[in-house]
Amino acid sequence: MSTAPTLDNHAAFLRAQAAIPGGVNSPVRAYGSVGGDPRFLARAAGPFVYDVAGREYVDLVCSWGPALLGHAHPQVVAAVQDAAARGLSFGAPTVAEVELAEEIRRRVPAAERVRLVSTGTEATMTAIRLARGVTGRPLVVKFAGNYHGHVDALLAEAGSGVATLAMPGTAGVTAAAAAETLVLPYNDLDAVASAFAERGAQIAAVIVEASPANMGVVPPQQGFNAGLRRITREHGALLILDEVLTGFRVGPSGWWGLQQVAGESYTPDLFTFGKVVGGGMPVAAIGGPAAIMSHLAPEGPVYQAGTLSGNPVAVASGLTTLRLADDAVYARVDAAAATLSAAVAEALDAAGVEHRVQRAGSLFSVFFGLGAAAEGVRDYAQAQAQEAFRYKAFFHAMLDAGVNLPPSVFEAWFVSAAHDDAALGRVVDALPGAARAAATA
Ligand code: PMP
Repeated sequence: MSTAPTLDNHAAFLRAQAAIPGGVNSPVRAYGSVGGDPRFLARAAGPFVYDVAGREYVDLVCSWGPALLGHAHPQVVAAVQDAAARGLSFGAPTVAEVELAEEIRRRVPAAERVRLVSTGTEATMTAIRLARGVTGRPLVVKFAGNYHGHVDALLAEAGSGVATLAMPGTAGVTAAAAAETLVLPYNDLDAVASAFAERGAQIAAVIVEASPANMGVVPPQQGFNAGLRRITREHGALLILDEVLTGFRVGPSGWWGLQQVAGESYTPDLFTFGKVVGGGMPVAAIGGPAAIMSHLAPEGPVYQAGTLSGNPVAVASGLTTLRLADDAVYARVDAAAATLSAAVAEALDAAGVEHRVQRAGSLFSVFFGLGAAAEGVRDYAQAQAQEAFRYKAFFHAMLDAGVNLPPSVFEAWFVSAAHDDAALGRVVDALPGAARAAATA
């Protein structure tokens, strides 16, 4: 238990709302679809987060992905402190940035050149600009329910907070920007082939989540990513594999690496990384072959820049995290995900709640109801057809029992290598009560 002075969470939220739109600096943090006050957190350690009122929760958000090793891993914190003592930001190149780029390339060899940025949004935005710059074409294909950050061109039918808030799109995006984005149903190669048959010469890139986890976890059907590779290559468009969420989380070489091991062989033109690559600090990256990446300034004509890009403190966090993320870490995270996903299914079965638990490596999420999608949720329309209202009761029962779940049914649950048997046991013990709450919702 925390020994820090405690505060009233509700008072903190009221104060926040008077100073910050909605009281939060990113919409997914608000309890928009589950109701109630978001917990204001004071600190985190290992598998736990602690709110300002001093309550401890087993954390299944893990900062929405970055905390692969658990919160505040001592070696990562020490590396950050050491870097901070040597200067917070130089605006000049450092050797550690090179080491991080080399570590990314070691894990994903097709990322021959890596440009570091600060957020996943910047990574996908840059990848799109690069694709347009390289091909000289205007259009981008994305998939409904996939989220790639808050880039104008990529918000149409986006997952994550856009799905949680049931927004069709967003105000502030011009019709011209929206018209340059073609949104297709996920897991539907025929739709992709038709779009390319009609407008292939105009399409700069297809961007896809390596394994989508922003409409709940909806893995690609066997052959889908390789099929995208084939179609884009036939038409001279680039394939951008967005591994911001999956990269270095589901395995040492991300979802792409897992698929290579599973025998689905393909290589995208560009990768985007974020989250784990910064280990909890703002680092993201674009990677790809030298021939494409050389189009970025200062080598080439596609401009991209950042005062804080490759920030030395953030890079220390990311580099240390990746160096510690060995096979044993991935095995522990996989085992934790297997334990929890089985326990969720068992609890919901026992309570008679129709559901599906879907998994992609160590990522998983629960869909409620879904008799109609007995074969599994394959796309956004099916994900939206679930009995999402059941999650509200489920979420609050878990929260009351000391488990911090993502406050939206459309988000993945995240575990870390610090989720030991004791922490997992607390989640497992909380599940039957939450399942009963979902049953009567
Ligand atoms: N791509 C994917 C697949 C994501 O999940 C996210 C964030 N959840 C982003 C891009 C955007 O990253 P950021 O929030 O760091 O801008």
